[in-house]
Amino acid sequence: MASVSSIEELIDSLRQLPGIGPKAAQRMAYQLLTSDKETASRLGNALLNAVKNVKRCPRCNNLTDKDVCKYCSSIHRDDSLLCVVETVADMMVIEQSLSWNGRYFILMGRLSPLNGIGPNELELGHLIDRASEPEVKEVVIATSFTAEGEATALAITELLAKHTPHVKVTRIAKGIPAGAELEYTDVNTVAQAMLNRRIRENN
Ligand SMILES: [Zn+2]
Repeated sequence: MASVSSIEELIDSLRQLPGIGPKAAQRMAYQLLTSDKETASRLGNALLNAVKNVKRCPRCNNLTDKDVCKYCSSIHRDDSLLCVVETVADMMVIEQSLSWNGRYFILMGRLSPLNGIGPNELELGHLIDRASEPEVKEVVIATSFTAEGEATALAITELLAKHTPHVKVTRIAKGIPAGAELEYTDVNTVAQAMLNRRIRENN
């Protein structure tokens, strides 16, 4: 009976992934275990290696298996520009839009009082430290255009105005519809929004 519980455990683990329902999890598990065992072994090893070696970049919170991630260590990026995003997925969308050549800072979420995520749960202290570094001249807030993303942008604007008044704070704006998640916005729209960023008024 051990094999039955192994399959069930696999299906249950796959179901924890975003966007995977019970039927899809079942299909994936049977596919991996019947016709595609080599892929299954490779997937298992890759997952174990990633879990063991990947950690958060101490500069920006991106995932990396180096001491510092490739966006923070690249010598071809502009140190004076810092883009604040909610998630790694949002950062990837901006990268794909080819509209940004500065550094990043990933908040690891957004303010969400109903879900118990307040300023202390986000990396706001870390962000202030990062934005306080002398080479930073502009912080671009690229949180989503949902109510929570806007509240997060406002909180960041106020914090930076207080702690780093010499730094220009801008917000990506034009083109991204109200209520939109950055992650699901097409890259051309994101590129336009980055180009049209506006000074963020602290009010
Ligand atoms: Zn980094």
